[in-house]
Amino acid sequence: MATQGASFGKSTLGRIERRRAVDDVHAAIREAILARRFPPGMRLNVEELSAQLGVSLTPVRSAIQLLAAEGLVDVHSRSGTFVATLTRRDLAETFDIRCALECLAAENAAPGLTSAQIEYAQKQLAILARPIRSDAQRRAHEQANSELHQIVIDAAANKRLADMYESLQAHIAMGRLHSVDQTWQSRLSQEHQEHEEIVEAMQARDPQALVSALRQHIMRAKIALLDSVEADNS
Ligand SMILES: [Zn+2]
Repeated sequence: MATQGASFGKSTLGRIERRRAVDDVHAAIREAILARRFPPGMRLNVEELSAQLGVSLTPVRSAIQLLAAEGLVDVHSRSGTFVATLTRRDLAETFDIRCALECLAAENAAPGLTSAQIEYAQKQLAILARPIRSDAQRRAHEQANSELHQIVIDAAANKRLADMYESLQAHIAMGRLHSVDQTWQSRLSQEHQEHEEIVEAMQARDPQALVSALRQHIMRAKIALLDSVEADNS
């Protein structure tokens, strides 16, 4: 009886630890990719990563599978695993789908937006109005930007739509890395005006105005991003 209890306890703990290791490894590699410490095209070696992170090979392999599903790494059966390189076409496709999903969500969600959701949107808008002079402020800005868009997605209460939107997030985050330059700073006032229009349409609970404000904002961001990627590659 005592032995049975002990072995049950052991196997339960083992499972939890393994799951945590995968999550930690996934978060660590993802962060390194998004911060460009692991730049696009870099080869990822499972043995090296497991040594660096002090974990066994299994959680590293599982984490790489998760990252591949997110589109952050490319696994080639013969040549190995690499940090994904996003082409202009990848980014264009991601932004087109993002636009379609946000507009669909907006159309369905606008009439039923709650006062709490609108207040939360206004709060994000206030954060987005703050000047950006440090990395921390920049991260707060990006966070508020994501939150604002997520309010519309969540308000649509469509799980499939939300899952599809979530699957684009890694590419959207990677795309933002291309825009860390002066053009990004110079676009800020335009971006803020667009966010104001989005929040105004939310306040009015006007589906057409919200769809139009979101489409203009996302398509402008797409063009600006594609321009900066072209500049990067040249
Ligand atoms: Zn935005």
